Amino acid sequence: MELARNERRVLCGLCPDGCWVVAGYDENGNLSSVRADESSPLGMLCKLGEHPPEIVYSPNRLRTPHDARTPIVNQKQLGETP
Ligand code: SF4
Repeated sequence: MELARNERRVLCGLCPDGCWVVAGYDENGNLSSVRADESSPLGMLCKLGEHPPEIVYSPNRLRTPHDARTPIVNQKQLGETP
């Protein structure tokens, strides 16, 4: 399988199945695309596996560890999470 210069063969980390995928990166090194790795035995992606860039860069993604003692909504009200 040929990889473009900005592509790497990696494991999808969205669920424990760990499918092999081909991740594409933009000029800043940010994840920009994911496609199935045709050289792996499965050679396909599930619907969730098609969307890692949207998930990784979502403005709603938690960027700090969650303090289990305090509900998330209270942490945001207190300004403890971005
Ligand atoms: S492609 Fe889908 S099934 Fe495979 S590891 Fe990613 S989320 Fe899990």
